[in-house]
This record gives sequence, C-alpha cells and structure tokens, in this order.
Amino acid sequence: MSLKIYNTLSRQKEEFKSIIPNHVGLYVCGPTVYSEPHVGNLRTFCSFDMIYRYLIFLGYKVRYVRNITDAGHLTNERGEGVNRMESQAKLESLEPMEIVQKYTVSFHRIMDAFNTIPPTIEPTATGHIVEQIEMIETLLKNGFAYEVDGSVYFDVKKYNDQHNYGVLSGRNIDELMAGYRDLDGQEEKRNSIDFALWKKASPEHIMQWNSPWGKGFPGWHLECSAMSTKYLGETFDIHGGGMDLKFPHHECEIAQNTGSCKQGGAKYWLHTNMLNFNGQKMSKSLGNSILPMEFVSGNHPLLDKGYAPSVLKFLFLQSHYSSELDINVKGLQDAEKGLKRLMEAVDLIKNFQLNPTDRKPTLDELIGELSGFKLGHRYNTEDNKETDLDRKIRLIVDACKKCMDDDFNTAKTIGNLFELATIVNSLKGGQIKPEEISSIGLDLLKNTLQNYLFDVFGLRNENAAVSNNKLDEAVQVLISLRKDAKAKKDFVTSDKIRNELSIAGINLKDEKDGEMSWSLA
Ligand code: AMP
Ligand code: ZN
Repeated sequence: MSLKIYNTLSRQKEEFKSIIPNHVGLYVCGPTVYSEPHVGNLRTFCSFDMIYRYLIFLGYKVRYVRNITDAGHLTNERGEGVNRMESQAKLESLEPMEIVQKYTVSFHRIMDAFNTIPPTIEPTATGHIVEQIEMIETLLKNGFAYEVDGSVYFDVKKYNDQHNYGVLSGRNIDELMAGYRDLDGQEEKRNSIDFALWKKASPEHIMQWNSPWGKGFPGWHLECSAMSTKYLGETFDIHGGGMDLKFPHHECEIAQNTGSCKQGGAKYWLHTNMLNFNGQKMSKSLGNSILPMEFVSGNHPLLDKGYAPSVLKFLFLQSHYSSELDINVKGLQDAEKGLKRLMEAVDLIKNFQLNPTDRKPTLDELIGELSGFKLGHRYNTEDNKETDLDRKIRLIVDACKKCMDDDFNTAKTIGNLFELATIVNSLKGGQIKPEEISSIGLDLLKNTLQNYLFDVFGLRNENAAVSNNKLDEAVQVLISLRKDAKAKKDFVTSDKIRNELSIAGINLKDEKDGEMSWSLA
C-alpha cells in the first residue's frame, strides 16, 4: 500500500504522488516570534516533525521549508490593528529585532528539547522583502491588486470572478462581505473582504521598508506565498499549518499564488487540529496556555508534576494529527506509563539472546548476505521456515506501515507497537519459548520498535537517561565519602560503602590514579 494523505483542498484522502519522483517539497507555516510558543503550537510543529520523519523513513529526499514570521504582521486578520512585534518590544523595552532574536532562539531551544529535526530551510519574512515586493508587482500587473495612498490591497472580488476565493475553506464571499461590513478601517478598500499586501507605515512605525509605493511593510499572508514559491517552486507537494490558519491565511496564500503565477502553490494541504487543555482551546487570551518547558519542570498550577518531553509527544501521537486533542493530567499520567512500557520493551529486546543452540547460518547464506544478495530469509528452525510467531510479528509490522500510510495514523501504529511489546514481555517472561522465534523474527521485532519509536516518532528513552544521570550523581557522592573515609584511615566506613553498594548491584573499582569508577553488576 502506498501513502494516502487527507487533502484539505479536495476534502478527501488521496494517494500521495510527489511531483518529482523520490523528492518532496514541504512547506509549513512557522512561528510568529513575538512570544514563547505554547504547548498548542508545539503540537502542530511536532505533528509536522512526525510527517517529515515518516517521509524520510519512506525514502524520500525532503526539502522542508518552515518560515519565521518576524516582520510583525498585524493583530487583525484583514491587515489592521497593532504590530505584534512592536507592541511586545515596547512592553519589554527592547528593539523589535531583539524580540525577534530572543524568541527565535527560545523557539529553537524548545524544538531541540522536544527532539524535532530542524527544517532544511528556515527563511525569515524580513529577509524576503524583495521577493514579496516582486510578487505584489506581478499581482498589480495581472490586475488582482490596487494601490491606494501607499498601501496595496488584493482585489478579492475581481479574483473571484475568474478563480475561486473559498476553494480551500469553502467560504462564500457574499457571506464574508456581509460579515465585514460594519467594521472600521475599510475606507481605503474597494471591498471589505480585500486584504492588505502592503501597508503604508506611519512615521512612528519602526519596522518599515522602502517600496515602489513608499515606506511600508508587507501584509500577513504574503511572506508564505513568496517564500514557498522561491524555495519550492510555483507548484510543490505539501503545504501545512494549524487548522486555524486555513482561513484566511491559507485561502489568501492560494489567491496570491494563483493571481501571480496561475498556480495555487501546493498540491496537498494538510491541517493539524487544535490542542485543548481541560476542554478549552489552548490560547494565550484564555489564560490556559502552558509553555512547553513548564510541562517539563511541572512548574504550573494545572500540573501535578513535570513530564519528560517524550511523554508529551507520546500523548500527541496517541491521537490523529487532524483530530482535536484534549489533554489533562490523567492523560499525561497514562501516556507516561504507556511510553515506559514501550521503552522497557526496547531495552529488553536489545539484549535478548536466542538460544545458543540456534542453527547457525550456512556459508552460502552468509556469502549471500555479505555480497548484498538476499537468498531468502534465514531462519533458525529445523525446516528453515518462518515460525508461527515470526508470521505474527510480520503481520503486526505490516500493520504498522499500513497505519502510517493511512494518513499518518500514529494512534493505530502505537496500538500495534504495544502488541510487539507484549511479545517481548512474553519472550522475557518465558511464556514464549526462544525456539518459537527465528533470528529474522527477532531482528524484525527489535528494528520495528526502534525505527518507529526513535526514527519516525522522534521519542527518546528519557527516563533511562535521567535515571542514569541521577544514579551517577548519587554514586559520585558515595565515592567521595569513601575517599574521605580512606584518607582518615576509617576503613570500616570505606569498606561498608563498597560492600553495601555491591549488595545493591553497583561495583566500585579502584583505578591506578587513585580515582574510582563504578559499574552495574
Ligand atoms: P503562531 O506562532 O501563532 O503563528 O502559531 C504557530 C502554529 O501553531 C500555527 O500553525 C497555528 O495554527 C498553531 N496553533 C496555534 N494554537 C494552537 C493550538 N491550540 N493547538 C494546536 N496548534 C495551534
Ligand atoms: Zn503561512
């Protein structure tokens, strides 16, 4: 089965066919860097990280472009209101570009802490003013834009006479115009539904650039059209973002692309759904937004304790990217337990040895493997055949791929990984005998757990890392106490520390330089 994606544009699941074989162009709307991203934003970026990782897993060479919105678009979706970057700069007594730098750095730190892979290109809006001006000029030339007193607007009605404004969101322009009629600041526009491509800047406006229409700044929607076209071409494979960007942002992007290049940009549009906390959409204005690092530290009144980044990611992955996800403390606790079970299975299977009496591969088989030819499966069984357990594992592994191919169904894939973990536990517990599985089956079990958990989902075995660090810290304290005791010739205490640790399964070793190392027994 090949990959199928729910395309928001066609409102159906479609088989994914990349424009250039084996290559994928992926554009995702990035963060507006005027404040820290909250956990809702994080969910969206983690969803696209999983999609990016799975495309790589399938063997595609992906050009992944995710922009940084740093030009300070306006709070109002039609291009009015205040510039977010500037108002935050005033609040923090910083330059707007200091705000951009501060929150870009912290965004990268968070993306790193949550083990997401950086995009291959991360363009900024302020670095592409020239490209945005060029696109406006083309739109003016093609008759889909008009200038009024230093500002340029997109003529939605005129565009809609030839194309379909609403193709993505299904909105109807007559209804939209009725909704906008009574709002202020519409005087300059031909129609209330028109949106700003370029806004004339008032003298006190800090972020402004020269343009053929005087000093000003670009409209909200323009940067993504200009940068996706520049780096991925007039038509490219996938465009993504949160569901709340579908209208007006993405609808306007399609109009700008079609109006300037006669192509709508992406073939497939993917929208991730919102994250709710205790039943409410997470957003700053509702006061229920939790910052990613507050989840890790547990330093938030709505949380009972801190959770490792992978626990939160695992919770995200347990529901489909296009479903709303309501998280609460109970869900986090369950996700922590579930992830622990899978990571324990990874650890158990890593060191699992088949019975030493297993049949060794024949010379022919080894030569075949070494020269890269597959001579067929190598099984340990007497009759050299797949065992029933091998077959069961193979079917579960196939199911994992089928689920991921079905519009990235991570929730169902995780269900299958739990079935593999049950097999690992039964092997370890002796309910399944080692001779029931072949080395092929064992490798498949091991690799599948590792591939999906680490490579595709980008999870980490953080509990192990944290507990190893903590253990090391604790043992170092005891080593230093033992050194003090030896220096004072208090051999009773020094021996007691060594012996008690040995009983606890930790061996101390005196090194030549007087230092001491430790290892697990
Ligand atoms: P912003 O920095 O506000 O432009 O948002 C960055 C991304 O996060 C966009 O793709 C938004 O659609 C997405 N987003 C915003 N709020 C939420 C939420 N509560 N749940 C999931 N995604 C969100
Ligand atoms: Zn965008």
